Amino acid sequence: MIEVPSPLRLRLDSRALIANWRWLAAQSGGAACGAAIKADGYSLGARSVMRHLAAAGCRDFFVATWAEAAALMPLPEGISLSVLHGVGASDMVAARTLPVRPVLNSVEQVARWREAGEGRPCDVMIDTGMNRLGLRVDEALGGALDGLCIETLLSHLASADEDSDQNAAQLAAFRAVREAVPARRYSLANSAGICLGRDFAFDLTRPGIALYGGTPRDEAAGQIRQVVYPETRVLQLRTVHKGEAVGYGATWTAPRDGRVAVANMGYADGYLRCHAGTGGGASWQGKALPLIGRVSMDLIAFDASAAGAIGEGDWLALDYDLPSAAARSGLSQYELLTGLGTRFARLWG
Ligand SMILES: *Cc1c(COP(=O)(O)O)cnc(C)c1O
Repeated sequence: MIEVPSPLRLRLDSRALIANWRWLAAQSGGAACGAAIKADGYSLGARSVMRHLAAAGCRDFFVATWAEAAALMPLPEGISLSVLHGVGASDMVAARTLPVRPVLNSVEQVARWREAGEGRPCDVMIDTGMNRLGLRVDEALGGALDGLCIETLLSHLASADEDSDQNAAQLAAFRAVREAVPARRYSLANSAGICLGRDFAFDLTRPGIALYGGTPRDEAAGQIRQVVYPETRVLQLRTVHKGEAVGYGATWTAPRDGRVAVANMGYADGYLRCHAGTGGGASWQGKALPLIGRVSMDLIAFDASAAGAIGEGDWLALDYDLPSAAARSGLSQYELLTGLGTRFARLWG
């Protein structure tokens, strides 16, 4: 087979990933710090994220689905993996075969696991107020989990990225369940929850977004390093004259004679149309190239008038610091990562 290089790449900084995990682990106090690697490690590549974090000492990983778990086999030595979405009837073959724990989310799932789980340990999610996944608190306190071999009892915070009364309410509800339901470990905090303080850490924390360069709350500002650097190649440089329009709908018109760099990336790669007109763009050798016109499916255009000797085939670095790109575009930091498509080569450094 011939090697075909991709004109798009994600440069991925493993040292920044590990530094972010270490900071989150330190903020977690005495609790172990795990990692959410669902959605293919927020698009970075779950297998690579697991390998880097496992080498740094991370032991507890979480994916959403059994297909995601199966894709990570075989697991490195000593690694624990849990499937957040639990076990439906069609998941039982995978759940009995893979060395992975389900996170049981309902009394129906608990019954299924009691019947067919062969006494193996499981994790359990308690819903302390989000009303998404998990057993209700009254179900957990009412004996629904009696006799089950629970490795980790979890709950998930709905508003940890805000200063909301819901955080204290969920903490109190989780503490009440912890008093009543035995488990080897208890786990409540995601990235934002870690920033709420040690009370939220319990035995195990489960950060996702902050590992990958997201700033979940102000407490983490200046502490979290950028991990993902999307880059795209210049396909063509063209001259435009004052008054000429660029792209679909002719939404941008050249204010003076200049140069335009057309690059290999578009909304099919997760670089959505809402990036247009927000003041962001890319850079080349330290020079800013503002994004101009509409984002096409596979192409984007930048004003390269100030970028001197730039040429066809040069790599442009996108402005993709997550907090500022989110503020500009209106996308969440999560969407900015998980949308990044399969045409990017993923290069770890
Ligand atoms: C995704 C997820 C996490 C990680 O959340 P972040 O906000 O990315 O830190 C933790 N726990 C559960 C249950 C999740 O679904």
